[in-house]
Amino acid sequence: MEIMRVLVITGAGISAESGIPTFRGKDGYWRNLDPMQLATPEAFARNPRLVWEWYNERREKIRAAQPNPAHEAIVDLAARARDLLLVTQNVDDLHLRAGLTPDKMVQIHGDIFVNRCSGCANEWRTNLGDADIDQSRLAGARHSMGDDLLECDRCGGLMRPGVVWFGEMLDPRKIDAVEEYLSRGDTDLTLVVGTTALFGYILDWATRPSKRLVEINPEMTPISRFAAEKISEPAAKALPRLISEMFGATGK
Ligand code: NAD
Ligand code: ZN
Repeated sequence: MEIMRVLVITGAGISAESGIPTFRGKDGYWRNLDPMQLATPEAFARNPRLVWEWYNERREKIRAAQPNPAHEAIVDLAARARDLLLVTQNVDDLHLRAGLTPDKMVQIHGDIFVNRCSGCANEWRTNLGDADIDQSRLAGARHSMGDDLLECDRCGGLMRPGVVWFGEMLDPRKIDAVEEYLSRGDTDLTLVVGTTALFGYILDWATRPSKRLVEINPEMTPISRFAAEKISEPAAKALPRLISEMFGATGK
């Protein structure tokens, strides 16, 4: 079966079986703090150290985690589709580590391994432990508060995680990349996996013209009533099965 154009939209649910907690529900809490209270510019302004501690712990958790069969199935699908775009809300790197190339991927909420200046456009990506971050970049780059917070080596601003917080705008270049893909025509398959789809733009992109809209999520979401097929199962089980049903059980 030939699958030409495929849009895949993923959320925290696809990484759940890799051991990375989703946001909503009890698992998303950190030290009894609601992520909605931590992932905001106001929280960072009030207590940057606390917010960095949370992100550093999450970085560690993600580094220790491995991609699961659902991430791998998307790589498989990408190899068979003529034109696939993955839009992920996840800031983890599990799609990347499963082997999906960056040109097929838009991390619409950013990348947890990026340090970005809160004052200028300076940013860099690290996969290293924070203690190992390229020391040359940090020469003299301790924040004036005299603590362990990183300071921008260009403007002296406070470095922050390169993610989109509540109340912040999406990166217009990333929106353009998604719109550009969608403007080239209807999709043969739109696959929505592991997201509550609470953001208007996710619901919008998910429901653009498609020959086949499939949702994989154990729970109901705003996408569910639009989906031609709703698979109420965990992604690591349902997604590999769906892909092998589509292409025959060639497996990996
Ligand atoms: P979410 O946590 O809101 O929802 C996860 C979804 O995955 C749920 O619908 C759940 O039913 C489903 N799910 C759980 N286990 C699954 C499995 N094994 N297989 C398939 N589905 C499964 O995650 P979301 O929808 O990605 O949230 C949207 C965005 O909200 C996030 O990307 C994030 O940007 C933002 N957010 C960010 C923070 C932050 O810390 N920056 C905090 C809260 C929310
Ligand atoms: Zn700066």
